[in-house]
Amino acid sequence: MRITAYKYRIYANKATTEKLYRVLDRCRELYNAGLQERRDAYEMGIKRHPNYYDDEQRKQLTGEHAIGYYEQKRELAGIKEERPEYQDIASHVLQDVILRLKRAFDGFFRRVQNGEKPGYPRFQGHNRYNSFTYPDRAGWKLEARERPTDKKGVVKVNLHLSKLGTVKLHLHRDLSGTIKTLTIKREGEYWYAVFTCEVGKPEALPVSHEDVGIDLGVTHFAALSTGEFIENQRYYRRAERRLKKLQKALSRKKRGSHRRKKAVQAVAKAHRKIRNQRADFLHKESHKLVNQYQVIALEDLRVKNLTKAPAPKQDENEQYLPNGASAKAGLNKSILDAGWSTFTEMVSVKAASAGRMVILVDPCKTSQVCSQCHREGPHKDLTERVHSCMHCGVVLDRDTNAAINILQSAHKQLSVGTRPTRVTA
Ligand SMILES: [Zn+2]
Repeated sequence: MRITAYKYRIYANKATTEKLYRVLDRCRELYNAGLQERRDAYEMGIKRHPNYYDDEQRKQLTGEHAIGYYEQKRELAGIKEERPEYQDIASHVLQDVILRLKRAFDGFFRRVQNGEKPGYPRFQGHNRYNSFTYPDRAGWKLEARERPTDKKGVVKVNLHLSKLGTVKLHLHRDLSGTIKTLTIKREGEYWYAVFTCEVGKPEALPVSHEDVGIDLGVTHFAALSTGEFIENQRYYRRAERRLKKLQKALSRKKRGSHRRKKAVQAVAKAHRKIRNQRADFLHKESHKLVNQYQVIALEDLRVKNLTKAPAPKQDENEQYLPNGASAKAGLNKSILDAGWSTFTEMVSVKAASAGRMVILVDPCKTSQVCSQCHREGPHKDLTERVHSCMHCGVVLDRDTNAAINILQSAHKQLSVGTRPTRVTA
């Protein structure tokens, strides 16, 4: 069994949206009150028993009262009686708030015990506390809609949250498996439902007899050993220019003004759009590769580590010398943009569940060595786009040559010998 999360945007009317904000605020208030209580108890306790970090541990060893998860959970009934506004919130949602607090403290105690100097669990402000969770199936349900699909065939359902109202949901991705929890989350002014589902072992795809080597690059997002390319997304640059403009507009707005608030929202929205487009692109491309190929060979990015900033150089007067950092930062930025590691991760995860194999190879010399005669040529700088072999005379795109080398190293690792890899372009 494994757990998968599905995230969908939810659409709520004004009254329900207001209620969602109110629930969030009350959960935050509960969290902060619980935190205060634990902090006080911790500080009193640690003064008396400096060696017992953990509240539960201290309780066991000294018999003294401590404030832990169970104690705080028991207080919830009293809180509901005293503060009727909490009665509108499902009990399990409130229990989850207490659980979040417990997790924060567990992490804190663990780090203290490991001899680290952790920060104390923090009070949460409006902008930080942005979700609440139904830890099981109580307090909400999914309901079919009268017209269950739209023109494009996307399934639409209603999500009913008890005492809060009904929100609309577009299932642009199938919700499969057994739903375990539901989290309602705010990102900027948008709201989302995140379902975590337990899914059975996925079925492996039938074996494919094609393998592929992939060179992740800057000119193209990726070059395949077949001679094909996956191009970078152009719209991303466009979105980035728009983001810069919005950020500039934001910097001109007066602090605390209504216009500034609007501008902050616009910037957040542009960020979100870029993130979503990016993730969508990476999901689609990794899916295609896993569907088609049995062995997928990629460079090991941990070895490649191009994104590391060069160390600063200083002259004898301790003045910083140019070290090409800004030029490299430009390159690094495109690399980060391209999301190589996210992509590698996605390919690996998808391959694992489809019964396909991902092999990470040492990226050393993948662009100098000739993929056809295996002899080494001179070092190429990034502007040289063509591999033209001085030994055997083959002419290939530089990145295609690298991709074939990557596939060949993977085959060597698998000790299946070097199957001839042909360029079909
Ligand atoms: Zn050659």
